[in-house]
Amino acid sequence: MKRARAVFTVLLVSIFCLAVVPPLVQAQQFPMAGDLLAGRLVVIDPGHGGYDPGAHGKRAAEDLINLENALALKEWFQRAGARVLLTRSPLSDVPKNKKYRVRDRMMWINHTHADVLIDIHCNAGARAYHGPQTFYWDGPGSYHLAHDVQEELQYFTHTRRKVTRIDQYVLRHADMPAINVEIGFISNPKEEEQLLNPEYQRNLSWYIFVGTERWFLKGRWPQNLLQTPPPTHLLVRD
Ligand SMILES: [Zn+2]
Repeated sequence: MKRARAVFTVLLVSIFCLAVVPPLVQAQQFPMAGDLLAGRLVVIDPGHGGYDPGAHGKRAAEDLINLENALALKEWFQRAGARVLLTRSPLSDVPKNKKYRVRDRMMWINHTHADVLIDIHCNAGARAYHGPQTFYWDGPGSYHLAHDVQEELQYFTHTRRKVTRIDQYVLRHADMPAINVEIGFISNPKEEEQLLNPEYQRNLSWYIFVGTERWFLKGRWPQNLLQTPPPTHLLVRD
């Protein structure tokens, strides 16, 4: 009974706050409000596409899941004022009848002179393997970026996977700080199911965004915004 009354009070206070707090104060609760990343250019590379579907799960191929995550991630960055370029769109500009060339994509990425590159992939391995993992190579800034993103992903998924240095073509050839986020194991049926859930993808991409934003704003990041849950009113797609 006491508990019920406490819940009611919290509810009442919440309603009161929503009703009387001016919009500006409310907006400050969310790191994306305003334009913290104005002037930044982010390239998101949803791995594979077109001719090359990537790894297969039970129900889906990796290229579709990567793209879904990239589109959600793009939206978070845009809400924070950043400009975002994707290496491919839902209509896929990767030719279907020609072997997908990672080298061409890499040249295009470097040509953008973006501030950061985020590669999105799904991992594959033993059925029991699970959890997202962020990889980096030796370019300046890449390790810290990977670290900040993986820390957010650990918070969200409770994975114990650690940020890992790896020699991958895209990471090695990127002119800008670059990471490869393996967002989960498509080979794990349970995780594949999660990755096919748009709300899970929106949440997951939120933490990739928050980690990247933290890295961008190093030293100017309000500590109380660390590992902030996604604003629920933005989780519903319109
Ligand atoms: Zn892949």
